[in-house]
Amino acid sequence: MPTQTSPNLVGASRAEIAALLGELDPRPYRAAQVYQWLARRLAGSLEEMTNLPKSLKESLARRAVICDPEIVEVRRGEEGTAKFALAYPDGTVVEAVAMPMEGHTTLCLSSQAGCAVGCVFCVTGILGAGRNLSGGEIFGQYRAIMRREGLVGTSVNVVFMGMGEPLLNLPGVTRAVELLSETVSPRRITVSTSGIVPGLAKLAALERRPKLAVSLNATTQEQRERLMPIAARWTLDELLDALRSFPLERGRRITFEYVMLAGINDSLDDARRLPRLLRGIPCKVNLIPLNPDERYLAGFSAPAEETISAFAGVLAAAHVNVTVRWSKGRDVAAACGQLRGGIPLGASAAPSPAPTRS
Ligand code: SF4
Repeated sequence: MPTQTSPNLVGASRAEIAALLGELDPRPYRAAQVYQWLARRLAGSLEEMTNLPKSLKESLARRAVICDPEIVEVRRGEEGTAKFALAYPDGTVVEAVAMPMEGHTTLCLSSQAGCAVGCVFCVTGILGAGRNLSGGEIFGQYRAIMRREGLVGTSVNVVFMGMGEPLLNLPGVTRAVELLSETVSPRRITVSTSGIVPGLAKLAALERRPKLAVSLNATTQEQRERLMPIAARWTLDELLDALRSFPLERGRRITFEYVMLAGINDSLDDARRLPRLLRGIPCKVNLIPLNPDERYLAGFSAPAEETISAFAGVLAAAHVNVTVRWSKGRDVAAACGQLRGGIPLGASAAPSPAPTRS
C-alpha cells in the first residue's frame, strides 16, 4: 500500500517516473505514457490510464500516489469568477482563482503559502512568510481546478499572481512552468514579480520562458519603499535597468502592474513620471484600482474613477499602452491582493524573514 510518504507522481519528470517504474517496466515509452497522462491529459488516477496494463497499474499503485491538493472550499462570484482554497496533505492551504474571459479562462495560481515581501496593500503580504510550494504542488492547483471545472482541453491562460513572490521560489515555479507548458504555451503563462532583481536573470535564462509582469506601484524610490519594502533591497533604478536588458521575444512586452491608491500614487505628477521611467522598455501598464479589504487595509482606498481616467489619459498621451483592470472577483475576495489561503487574518502568520539580496 502507498503511504503518506509515498512519492507523488504529480510533478515527477519522465526520468523520475522511469525510476519509480524500475524493473516493473523499464521501457522508456512506459514512463513517457504515465507522464503524458498526468501532465497532458491531467489524469486523476491510474485507472484512467487506459493504455497501461492492469498489472502494471496495480504494481505502480503500491509504490506511488497521484495526489493533487484537495479543493476544500469554492466561492463563486457574480461574474463567474471562482476562488478555490486548496489543501495539501501537510495542512498547508493556498488559494487560486479561475476567471472566465472572452474565449478562455485565466487561472491565477499561488507559488508560496504566504509571502515575505510584505507589500502594504496586499492581504497575502500581511500574512507574512509561508513555505515554498514545489513545482508539483503548484501544478497540482492547475490540475485540481481544471478537472473540477471541466476545463481540460479548453483554452487557458495561467498567471502567477496568487499568493507568494514567484521569483523567491524559482525552483518550484520553473518546474511548474515546465509542467504547465505541456498543455499551455509559455506565451500564455505570466510570472509576476515585485522586483526581485537577481531572479530576473534566472527567469530570462529559462528555455521555456513565460511572460513577465512587474508589480511597480510607484514612480519614486521613496514612494515604492513605503509601499513595497522590497524596494529598499533592490531599488527602482536597479529594477528598471534590469528590465531594460531583459530579453524579450519579438512582439512580447513586459506588463507593469500599478495598484492605484488614493492620495498615495495617483497624482498627475506620478502619471507624468511613469512614461519617463519606462522609456526603453517595451511594455504595457495595467492600472489596478485597489481592492479594499475592509478589515486590514484600512487607510488605503481606491482613487475616484475620474482620477483613474485622468491618470490613464496622461499615460495614453505619452504613447504608453495602458489599460485599467477593474478586478474580477471582488465579491468573493478573489481579486489582486486579496488571497490569504483560508487563513483568518490576524491569526498567527509567521514573521516575515526579509528576502536576502543574492
Ligand atoms: S503583492 Fe505579491 S509580492 Fe507583494 S506581498 Fe502580495 S503576494 Fe507578496
